[in-house]
Amino acid sequence: MTTQTDMPALKGAIDAQVEATLERVQALYRQIHQHPELPFEEHETSERLAEALETLGYEVTRGVGGTGVVALFHNGEGPTVMLRGDMDALPIQEATGLAFASTRTAETESGTVPLMHACGHDLHSSCVVGAAAVMAGLKAHWSGTLMLICQPAEEIFGGARAMLDDGLYTRFARPDVILGQHNMPALAGTIGHRAGSTMAACTNLAVTIHGTGGHGSMPAQTVDPVVIAAHVVTRLQTIVSREVPPEETVVVTVGKLAAGTQANIIPHSAELEINVRSFDNALHRQVVDAIERIIRAECEAGRSPTPPEFRVLNETLALHNDPTAVERVRQAHAVHFGETHLYAMPRLNGSEDFPFFGNATEGGFGGEDIPYVYWFIGATPAERWAETPGESVAEKMRHLEMPHSPYYFPGNEVTLRTGIEAMAAGALAYLG
Ligand code: ZN
Ligand code: ZN
Repeated sequence: MTTQTDMPALKGAIDAQVEATLERVQALYRQIHQHPELPFEEHETSERLAEALETLGYEVTRGVGGTGVVALFHNGEGPTVMLRGDMDALPIQEATGLAFASTRTAETESGTVPLMHACGHDLHSSCVVGAAAVMAGLKAHWSGTLMLICQPAEEIFGGARAMLDDGLYTRFARPDVILGQHNMPALAGTIGHRAGSTMAACTNLAVTIHGTGGHGSMPAQTVDPVVIAAHVVTRLQTIVSREVPPEETVVVTVGKLAAGTQANIIPHSAELEINVRSFDNALHRQVVDAIERIIRAECEAGRSPTPPEFRVLNETLALHNDPTAVERVRQAHAVHFGETHLYAMPRLNGSEDFPFFGNATEGGFGGEDIPYVYWFIGATPAERWAETPGESVAEKMRHLEMPHSPYYFPGNEVTLRTGIEAMAAGALAYLG
């Protein structure tokens, strides 16, 4: 058994384990990178990961919440720590020029799409396997239960809920703390932490506004959904300016507005897609409700023959890192990596479905919320970082490719190593 003060001794042990496993994890990473799959279609990916975890002696279950993988390592009395990695890729044509770049495509409703691991989920799940190897190798140094999950469909905010709905905490174990990470364009080898509000809640909403179509020359015989939609778009802008307290950050974007075919036809309906972001779950609900209220009222004002239809395309919660848990993990990372390798993470307007794992109500598992820590690992090699203009992480980030770019590549050796060590050191902060 170890305590926090033994961590420097454990650093050598972790490093030795990483050394022993790194080559295999790199090979696995390249395999997954070269064979990306769309959300909920991660069949090959999950099989590769499941096999790797089985080989390491973990008790592995496949097909949890679709293609999800759960791996357990029972190692005596103690808490249960859950480490989460995601697996899904994006419909992007890879342009990294890597020897193991993806040339894959997939058939979807909208035709053939290229596939790329442009968000580094291949890195995250490979790091889970790396941490699994390290923790198995160090089993004499810790006690408790390690629960590893490889999650499908993060990009569409579907996989976390799917795994929870499939009994993640009842069939396997209910964790005491949950740890997750994402790569970002910061210096490779560094880790960013943030307590409290860290990432935004997000709702993507599709709306149909109904009218009565007809000839463009006879508007009185029609109900024009284009005019109603135009009022909706403008009126929605009053939510942030008139209904949200000025100290709060909320975004309401109408990203899609589609109606009609040509000038002399008044169409039957108009379609909108709306994106909402905020950092507070209760306020977020209030904003989504306001959108619905305004659209219903505008449809009534415009004599719409049938009420508008609303469809949530996907949705996720605000990410709030538990301050106590963040401090504990940050301390462990400070001991392992050194303070100079840590940075204060700025709040991000991006979103994640990771918070469902900790939210008892929205995650649908009941009881108390579960504390979680989600940190960020730098993915930009030192040379590239040095030549990038700017002083702070935020300044430099403006000049670097971001995740979802066809040029984005976080999978260098330093980042992979850091991701494995960060997960192992984080787990040991609770199990050691
Ligand atoms: Zn992404
Ligand atoms: Zn991502």
